[in-house]
Amino acid sequence: MADRGDGDEPAVVGPIPWPNLPQGAGARFRTLFGRALRRRCPYCGGGNIFSGYWSLKPICPTCEVKFVREEGYFLGGYALNLVVSESLALGLALWLLFGTRLRELSLLPQEAIAIVLAVAFPVALYPFSRTVWMALDLFLHPPDEKLEGYLTARDLHRRDRSDADAGR
Ligand SMILES: [Zn+2]
Repeated sequence: MADRGDGDEPAVVGPIPWPNLPQGAGARFRTLFGRALRRRCPYCGGGNIFSGYWSLKPICPTCEVKFVREEGYFLGGYALNLVVSESLALGLALWLLFGTRLRELSLLPQEAIAIVLAVAFPVALYPFSRTVWMALDLFLHPPDEKLEGYLTARDLHRRDRSDADAGR
């Protein structure tokens, strides 16, 4: 009956309580993407993870998780952003230029509208592409023990006594 790690006191091993995400897939999905859409850390829900509009901090200021799992980690996020935002831009442009009175404009202003949309959407969605990518990854590929150790930067905190821990 005793459920270890399920009490008030989380089983903290490293510098952070590892994400206490809901066990059920549906609830976990909603939690992760709710955090991502508010531009918060998908791992813990903490805010202030961007140092500027374009720059995600390397480590979450709340839970200290490393955001980059590996080199080129966010390439998929860039691709996702491009596909999603350009699809939205194209859809909106088509609607504006064929479904509204804007169709009466001449070609040049119509092209200008399409270009503005094609630039504005990826820019507007950029920060979300980062957080959504992390949420997606965390949902589909929950870190195993090894990766969890890397992400929580325990290696940095434990480097001094790694020899004692290695026990070989
Ligand atoms: Zn966090």
